Amino acid sequence: MPYDRAQAFYRETLDAIKNDGLLKEERYIHSPQAADIKVEYPEGSNASNVINLCANNYLGLSSHPEVIKAAHDGLESRGYGVSSVRFICGTQDIHRELENKISTFLGTEATILFSSCMDANAAVFEALFDDKDALISDRLIHASIIDGIRLCKAQRHIYEHSDMAMLEQKLKETRGARFRVIVTDGVFSMDGDLAKLDEICALAEKYDALTFVDDSHATGFIGKTGRGTHEHYNVMGKIDIITTTLGKALGGASGGCISARQEMVDILRQRARTYLFSNSLPPVIAAAANKVMDIISATTERRDKLEELTKFFRAEMTSRGFDIVPGFHPIVPIMLYNAKLSQDIARDLYYEGIYVIGFFYPVVPKGQARIRVQISAGHEKEHIQKAISAFTKIAEKYKILGKTKDKIIEMYGA
Ligand SMILES: *Cc1c(COP(=O)(O)O)cnc(C)c1O
Repeated sequence: MPYDRAQAFYRETLDAIKNDGLLKEERYIHSPQAADIKVEYPEGSNASNVINLCANNYLGLSSHPEVIKAAHDGLESRGYGVSSVRFICGTQDIHRELENKISTFLGTEATILFSSCMDANAAVFEALFDDKDALISDRLIHASIIDGIRLCKAQRHIYEHSDMAMLEQKLKETRGARFRVIVTDGVFSMDGDLAKLDEICALAEKYDALTFVDDSHATGFIGKTGRGTHEHYNVMGKIDIITTTLGKALGGASGGCISARQEMVDILRQRARTYLFSNSLPPVIAAAANKVMDIISATTERRDKLEELTKFFRAEMTSRGFDIVPGFHPIVPIMLYNAKLSQDIARDLYYEGIYVIGFFYPVVPKGQARIRVQISAGHEKEHIQKAISAFTKIAEKYKILGKTKDKIIEMYGA
């Protein structure tokens, strides 16, 4: 059979992934996305109720009753599918409404929706730039931005993570390019640290460069009113291109967008391949996302609660002797350094009713294994307190509390 040789190859590849301990296995969740979920783990066991600390449900809107009601209303009033791309017969009034609401919220001139932020990032560079231009990106940008850059013929330059001196050097080196674009995530998902957008905007000004920010881990809750990383750094209106997702804080269903200068968005409607050749966002999602935009535009209650819970969790964990990456983002990396230790602790926590995942190489650099906790406005203080108690109990078992990085590595290896 023609498939035989290929089959042997794929089986070997899978075995190698497994032998390296890198096989990603999915856990089955038997409930809606929320603070309390029911998880089947290991596979085939009875699902248990656990506190969820690893979703991107930052504002707790994934299963919010008003959002679900808006989704139902959208289904009733605009149907299930549009069976078309946007420019043929797939643009509904609620798509336009959502694009306008996102522009107003982010303080941008215009917005264009995609089926995901991955699709937005895949389209944006190729549609707006070519071989006369230079893209200068942070070392740690999201995989979807890397893929988008690969699809574009522009020159590629990389600066070390948040290294502003090196960025400036690259800006000097690329003076010959027609357009230069500084490309970064607003928040980096493994450490929860923010790009230095104030310095980036100053450099962009000085060297006549454009700016691109993927704010997927920020839109809705970073900044005083949750507009994002640009609000936090007081550079609203200065970022030329923002991409973001509807799949995290903004209800968590799916969808993404590019929010940018008017002419850029006009060009994207003509040229963005994942927009032109892929179906429209389903009405259910457009309708629900409109409600999400209304909720987060009307009140900062949810992002304020998230900020409070995050502060509380970070302070308590630090005072109990956990080694956490400092910051204020609801992504809280609890450093364990050793891959197996991160998996063992995550498994023990599951049996204590706390659902978290260990991250290790190649998701994070070698010797940087960790458990990444994500706080949500859907949590109550009791959830966080239970999580802190469980973490403390398990950490005592492994004798890591108050231990330095070197000590943990001495005990468990890197
Ligand atoms: C999650 C994420 C994406 C992907 O978003 P989707 O809408 O799920 O495709 C893109 N960029 C960044 C920085 C992300 O964190």
